Amino acid sequence: ARQTVPKAMDVKTKATPQLKVSKEKDHPPPPPDNVLEPSSVDRPDGAVYQVGKMLGKGGFAICYQGYLLPTRHKYALKIVKSQMPSKMQQKFQTELQIHSKMRNKNIVQFLRAFSYENCTYLVLELCPNGSLMDMVKKRRGLTEPEVRFYSVQVAGAIKYMHDKGIIHRDLKMGNIFLDRNMNAKVGDFGLAALLVTGKDMHTIRRTTLCGTPNYIAPEILEKGKKGHDHMVDIWSLGIIMFAMLTSKPPFQSTSTEEIYRRARERDYEWPSSETTQKYISLEAKDIVASMLEDADRRPDPDTIVQHPFFTSGYMPVDADMTPKLLTLPPDDP
Ligand code: ADP
Repeated sequence: ARQTVPKAMDVKTKATPQLKVSKEKDHPPPPPDNVLEPSSVDRPDGAVYQVGKMLGKGGFAICYQGYLLPTRHKYALKIVKSQMPSKMQQKFQTELQIHSKMRNKNIVQFLRAFSYENCTYLVLELCPNGSLMDMVKKRRGLTEPEVRFYSVQVAGAIKYMHDKGIIHRDLKMGNIFLDRNMNAKVGDFGLAALLVTGKDMHTIRRTTLCGTPNYIAPEILEKGKKGHDHMVDIWSLGIIMFAMLTSKPPFQSTSTEEIYRRARERDYEWPSSETTQKYISLEAKDIVASMLEDADRRPDPDTIVQHPFFTSGYMPVDADMTPKLLTLPPDDP
């Protein structure tokens, strides 16, 4: 999901981030009314998708609803131009390779990929209720039971990815989509990386800086700290939990440099209950603080969900909310 600040794919130095703004020409043209999936081994007759409404735009991708004829089953079609600048080509290849191997109830299911009329189509599980970011914005923060519900789901997805040696590296509310039952589904594997596990869990260290500044862990900005790279996802979950509770990420600032400084110094404050009329429990503050520790001290997903924040408060079994809730005003304090 693209926010006002796009993913910093091309940032070379930390002092002068050059955020790459995608241009209209980078996006594919609107798709035809019917998209034909060519025949393949597991689908010898091919398939036809009837294109529905646009779901959103990313850096280089456009997403539309697609109805598979004749079942009318709905999917999300993520479309990119087949010809892209080589950097984006690479990013997209990684995304395809990694995402297609994921199978978890809290990760957007990847169904297939094919080419049609100079575009590449990814067929994905449809998440028709927007992202966690849309929901948190509309509701101006969630209740603690809701925060528990979504945090456990995202922690489960992180555990699954890490067990498979995958670091997502771009977890943020805009990349966590909501399915028809309002469950969280991690999407957008464009910046994910495969951990190369050698003797000492040696990891790929990319020279480029990626992610959105608000969610970037300080160790990404430093060199020479090895072995805990996957913990960047735990940092991001800490930021996501803070943002779900308060509706703002903890290090929010006007400049990227200032965000990084505040993150390095852990310079954040919980809003006071007088100004927000909202009570945030000590347990919530404690678990978030632990996730924003240095990488080697952050809890892993199993430890996170055993924290008193999760074990001593009410935990919904399912979202039990209708999509209508998204359009309702925030809860009464
Ligand atoms: P990019 O990789 O270019 O950032 P995204 O994967 O974030 O692109 O997709 C762009 C937009 O498309 C998202 O912000 C969202 O609105 C929509 N989108 C992406 N995947 C889905 C999905 N599975 N279901 C519904 N909408 C989606």
